[in-house]
Amino acid sequence: MVSFVLFAALQTANPPPPARPAAFLGFEPGTDSMLADWKQVSGYMNGLAQQSRFVHVDTLGRTTEGRPFLLMTITSPANQARLADIKRTQALLADPRRLADSAFAAIRNTQPAVILISNNIHSTEVASSQMGMTFAYRLATDPELTRLLDSVVVLMIPSMNPDGLDTVVSWYRRYKGTRYEGGPLPWLYHKYVGHDNNRDWFMVTQAETRLVTRMLYTEWFPEVVYDVHQMGANGVRLFVPPFQDPVNPNLDPALVAAMNLVGAQMAAALYDAGATGVAHQLTYDLWWHGGFRSTPTRHNMVGILTEAASTRLGSPITLAPDSVRQPPRGVNQPAQWPGGTWHLGDIVRYELIAAEALVHLASRDRLTFIDRFVGLGRRAVEAGLAGNPFAYVLPPDQRDPEAWSTLANVLRLGGVEVRRAAEPFTADGRSYPAGSLVVPMGQPYRAHAKDLLEPQQYTPVNDRPPYDVAGWTLPYTMGVRADLVNRPFDANLVNVDSVVVAPGKIQGSGAVFVLRNRTNAESRAVAQLLAAGQSVTVLGDSLIVRGPKARAILSEQAARHGFNVTAVRAPPAGGGGRTLQRLPRIGLYQPWTGNIDEGWTRWLFEQYGITYTTVRDSDLRQGTLRQHFDVIVLPDAEETSLVHGIDSTRIPVQYAGGMGEAGANAVSEFVRDGGTLVCLDGSSNFAIARLNLPVVNVLAGEASGPQVLRFYAPGSIFGVLLGGVEGGSRSPVTVGLSDSLRIYFENSAAFSVSGSARALATYPPRPLRSGYARYQERLEGKAALVEIPVGSRGGRVILFGFRSQFRGQTHGTFKLLFNAVLLTAP
Ligand SMILES: [Zn+2]
Repeated sequence: MVSFVLFAALQTANPPPPARPAAFLGFEPGTDSMLADWKQVSGYMNGLAQQSRFVHVDTLGRTTEGRPFLLMTITSPANQARLADIKRTQALLADPRRLADSAFAAIRNTQPAVILISNNIHSTEVASSQMGMTFAYRLATDPELTRLLDSVVVLMIPSMNPDGLDTVVSWYRRYKGTRYEGGPLPWLYHKYVGHDNNRDWFMVTQAETRLVTRMLYTEWFPEVVYDVHQMGANGVRLFVPPFQDPVNPNLDPALVAAMNLVGAQMAAALYDAGATGVAHQLTYDLWWHGGFRSTPTRHNMVGILTEAASTRLGSPITLAPDSVRQPPRGVNQPAQWPGGTWHLGDIVRYELIAAEALVHLASRDRLTFIDRFVGLGRRAVEAGLAGNPFAYVLPPDQRDPEAWSTLANVLRLGGVEVRRAAEPFTADGRSYPAGSLVVPMGQPYRAHAKDLLEPQQYTPVNDRPPYDVAGWTLPYTMGVRADLVNRPFDANLVNVDSVVVAPGKIQGSGAVFVLRNRTNAESRAVAQLLAAGQSVTVLGDSLIVRGPKARAILSEQAARHGFNVTAVRAPPAGGGGRTLQRLPRIGLYQPWTGNIDEGWTRWLFEQYGITYTTVRDSDLRQGTLRQHFDVIVLPDAEETSLVHGIDSTRIPVQYAGGMGEAGANAVSEFVRDGGTLVCLDGSSNFAIARLNLPVVNVLAGEASGPQVLRFYAPGSIFGVLLGGVEGGSRSPVTVGLSDSLRIYFENSAAFSVSGSARALATYPPRPLRSGYARYQERLEGKAALVEIPVGSRGGRVILFGFRSQFRGQTHGTFKLLFNAVLLTAP
């Protein structure tokens, strides 16, 4: 009896080994045409955590569509028992100002290296979501790996977009075995932002970005962040760092060298294992800020990207050797891939070797990783304290106070210290009031703050364009005044956790309310007023509303969002103006091409309470649009894409063919019937052609001819001057806007106008403010924003030759879009 009890106790002490992924899934991750969805991936990970003392799973929060968002912590049982302690120490390492030399000497002997591996942010790049299960299992069971986990904490996000994983896997399963197997999706794989979910890492607008950002900069502070991606099918098999030039000036040289080191370690491990086609220095540069491999580098974290050649989701792809575009054998790719069939399992294998190489390196070089992380933080602090720049000051008297607080909070979310002046002070000879926000450069995340606050000056290397956008200066995109201060100054400053605007109010007395419409929040209030049946009159450069219900809405909105309203007894003299009686019926066109600009527009409307209806191809083709809508918004898309969509050989017929001729004709008829058509960037070409507008996109011909002779601006900020004041009245589109604006331009349009077309915003000489433009002088005198009356029933077309709502960043120009949809309806 006694021996039986002892035997049972021994059994409990030696639980069975964790289940392999194949035992749980019924197939090995990476098997052709088999994809695990989020329920399976998260189910396996949760099970593994129950079976292994090496594995812990946390739910960081909920995704956009409500799925659990997981973070795995994989390390030795001894480290698992002291995770809170390890996290506290990481926070100290991340901010060396709080770390005494004596304490550091003790810490560095016991602290493990902390690395983060993030899978599957781009949902169609599906292999890493499958790889993660095998990786976690191997970390928990393979003695060659488990022995490393005393000195390393491996954090892993199994999918950075679980919603998208399910979207892609269910699409793949539905069309497996048909001609559409592995083909494109007709919708975005993130509810709002699709592929741009990896362009949100400094602005932090989306749920998933917020969860990971909070974990990174307030909880875990890893020394290395490895973001796992795939690219097209035809190139090298795997890109690993070194990245391509140019290097952003805010990156410390030691950080750049460390990225090279990690990439070389991964490549060596792959070639050791007999792989081919692993290459360096392709496509992906070190200029860009905003991706998950780049924003952590502004936080002293070694940011690693790998990009594997894709299959057709779960299905293999066969490539003849001469169809593979790859560099010749050389130092950047010591062995070419010979061509042949490329399987999901090949990607899984390459990614697994790369991830395990990182674990080996982090274990072997633990002390170097820790010392480098601390050294990077120390140098950032010292560089900032030395000045040039010393700080940025954001005074509180801003045109749009909520843009000011949002900018400060974006910095705070990114771990940047922001301080508020308790008393007035002087810096670089300028006086600032109490309440001014100060962003000191003498802080560990100096590179992040500085890169977001200063103008970018991109210099091409070998005339190569930047990988993504070239400029992102937030004070410009958000329309916020931020003053550069070069010399040290004294001020009474207190740390702020988050910034809220001072409550606004209704000033004066009377039952007529005048809005200056300078803030985005006033557009939210206008939408709410119109939705509540309150009429709004556009009069000169103001908006007028009346009555007790309007007062209630305005006082609540003004208090919450920090704008002021003037109450008067009678409307301003002059009379006239346009009066809107109700909220315009807004239709937002959603093509079956997964249009990211549509997603951002939809997101923005929802943020500001602007009610809209999604309009699809079938709705357009039916015609009689004017009966249903006052305003139709076409997102950025080329004319061919709008009219023809995706061919039915590539996508099921119900999603194929675009709006077609019938839809295009119906849109034209809508305008002639008195509707307002708002065209965002590329869709302007559609309207110009279809409605025969007296407007020419002077950049439309730039797609041909030698590249070096073409105008080129990939993602830059330009200045424009507002005009369009005819007979003393502004267009409703520009009511409330400053005469001088900064707009976001990304391979956009520029117009010359004639006849009845009216240029509302025009480029001055040399308009580039941040980023890069080749032949920027070509823009001088051209229009960026145009309004054209059409027909005799009050129809009009508004052409945006830029990105007024670019990636949710451009608070300084949101209002142009809000005005266009709220104030122009007939
Ligand atoms: Zn990707």
